[in-house]
Amino acid sequence: MPEEPKSAPGRKRGEKKRRAAAYHEAGHAVACHMLEHPFHYVTILQGEGTHGHCKSKKPPRWFNPELNLDDPRCAKWLDEEIIILYAGGAAERLFTGRYNHIGRARDYDVACELSLYRCGWTKVVEAHIRWLHLTAEYSVESPMWRPSISAVAQALLERETLSAQEVAEVIRAHWDALISAEQEARRQQRAAD
Ligand SMILES: [Zn+2]
Repeated sequence: MPEEPKSAPGRKRGEKKRRAAAYHEAGHAVACHMLEHPFHYVTILQGEGTHGHCKSKKPPRWFNPELNLDDPRCAKWLDEEIIILYAGGAAERLFTGRYNHIGRARDYDVACELSLYRCGWTKVVEAHIRWLHLTAEYSVESPMWRPSISAVAQALLERETLSAQEVAEVIRAHWDALISAEQEARRQQRAAD
């Protein structure tokens, strides 16, 4: 069973930090959703030294970077994990213009650890994670990810914690509403012609 999200007692934060946490965690959650990496939930409830977190599920059984990195599925999964780690800070920067330094440092450390499996040499690790960081920045600005992150962040600000299924529902509802609005606009345009 996943641990339940808990808020650290007696700690309050301003609305600006709460909003930054919502975009940061929405970035992680939307990246998991888009790349089909399973997760339990995402929350902006504060923990020890965190402004929220996205709780991953166990990776597939074939994912064992210590033993079978020659398996292309394993290398791909590892790269996607690093993109998911960077998507938090990239989303936060895109929407708020600043990074959450606590979360970013932790994400960066884990990304370096994962990259070492792939590269094994510091200079190559630097290039590898730089490439994946840029990929994360590019992805969060894409026409599919950006509005989805915004919708999930809004839902997190309202509800604080969302299961993976609720994240999928928020994204689906957002795109359904957008398609309906476009269809209605086209219908009105046709009626006016
Ligand atoms: Zn993060």
